[in-house]
Order: sequence, then structure tokens, then C-alpha cells
Amino acid sequence: MQLFDTHCHLDFEAFDKDRGAVLKRAREAAVSRFMVPGVTRKQWDKLVPLASEYSCWYYALGLHPWFIDEHKDSDVEELERQLEKQQGKVRAVGEIGLDRTCPNFDKQHRLFIRQLELAKCFKLPVIIHHRKTLDRTHADIKKYGPENGVIHAFSGSHQQAMKFVEQGYKLGVGGVITYERAQKTRQAIKEVPIESLVLETDSPDMPVSGYQGERNEPSRMPLVLEALAKLRNTSEEELASQLWQNSVALFR
Ligand SMILES: [Zn+2]
Repeated sequence: MQLFDTHCHLDFEAFDKDRGAVLKRAREAAVSRFMVPGVTRKQWDKLVPLASEYSCWYYALGLHPWFIDEHKDSDVEELERQLEKQQGKVRAVGEIGLDRTCPNFDKQHRLFIRQLELAKCFKLPVIIHHRKTLDRTHADIKKYGPENGVIHAFSGSHQQAMKFVEQGYKLGVGGVITYERAQKTRQAIKEVPIESLVLETDSPDMPVSGYQGERNEPSRMPLVLEALAKLRNTSEEELASQLWQNSVALFR
């Protein structure tokens, strides 16, 4: 069995002290490939060398809405230069998106649209962050975005899920589904076509049930797989194989 963690921030400071051990534990848990998204222009300078050091990492470049105060409009121009320069190496534009709990929504929206357009222009998928913005995000993707991408940490209704699926996008499934109380998300994830799902941990965030308050890491991903297999009433092996194919197709 091989698992692909399609969203983890392994370059973050939280892993500086024991990154090698974290990757070793992941491999022992069959998690052998990782997508590490970009979040700020400054962070790209740490991410890109790490991604070339670890051959099991894929990486993306983008400007995350959590750091909206830090981003400059010129960072988008730099993003364009880097996408050009790193063609063939950078596999997605992300993590980008809209977050209603972050300040400066107009600026968020402006940067989001410009990054969607860049992804389309470079024929790269996008990694989408959202909070209380799913419908707005869908409209923007439809109008400006590339043909494919992933809705990171999808949490919405079945109807919302299907709108993204019909658009050709995948839904990122993480630790949320290990919590019984996440009924709406669990129901939506249960019913969408299996071809539209990928697994992710969002390490160091989003701990799985039973590990609240701890740093999350990719070696916990089998618990997400187990929860998903139960939810969809299928075998873990079959599921893992399909999810691997979905992930590789997304970030080819
Ligand atoms: Zn993230």
C-alpha cells in the first residue's frame, strides 16, 4: 500500500527539529509522497531547497490568505517569475484562497483571482483554502481558474461538493472525518464519486480524533484512510489504490 499526503506543511518550523524522523515514521506508515504548499514569498525560499533535498516531496507556490497583511501585489509578479523559472518542478499553485476570518477581504480576493489566472496560464492545478467562502470560491474558480485543483479540507454539503466535482476538482479529506460530530462533511464525503477524493493531513494542524492538542504528522494518515474506508464501506487496500491514482493524476 502507498499513501500520498496531498497537503502537509512539512517545511514549517514545527518540523525543524525532527523532520527526518517525521518522514521516517511516515514511510513506516506507508505514506511515501507529500505535497507541500507555499504560503508566503519569504517561505518559498525555505520550501524550494527542502523540496529538492527530499525527493518524496512535491511542492506548490502560492500566497495563503492567512498571511494577507504580509503579501504585496508585487509578490504575485514574483510568483509568475518563479512559475516560469521552475516549470516542470513546481506542481501546483497553492495554497491560495479566501478566508472570512482573516482581514482585508478585498485584497484577498484580488490576489486570489490573479493566482487563479496564473495557474490557468501555466496549466497547473490549484490548492484551495476556504473558510465560510465555499460558494464564492466556486464562482471564482469557474470564472478564472484552471481545469483542476483540490479543495483542501473540504467541509460543506453534498450539493456543494458536487459543484466542485462537476468542475473537475478533487476534495481533500483529512482528520475531520475521524470526528463523529462532523456529520455534514462525513455525509458529503460518503456520497461523492471516489475518483474525486484525495487524502491529506494538513500537518502540523488538524489533528485526528484521539490526538487533539498534539502536533499532527503524516504518519497519522492511515487513521484517516481507516475512517474513510468505514464510511464508504470499502476495503482500505482498494481505497488506497484509487486515492493514490487520484493524487498522482492531480499533481502529474
Ligand atoms: Zn495548508
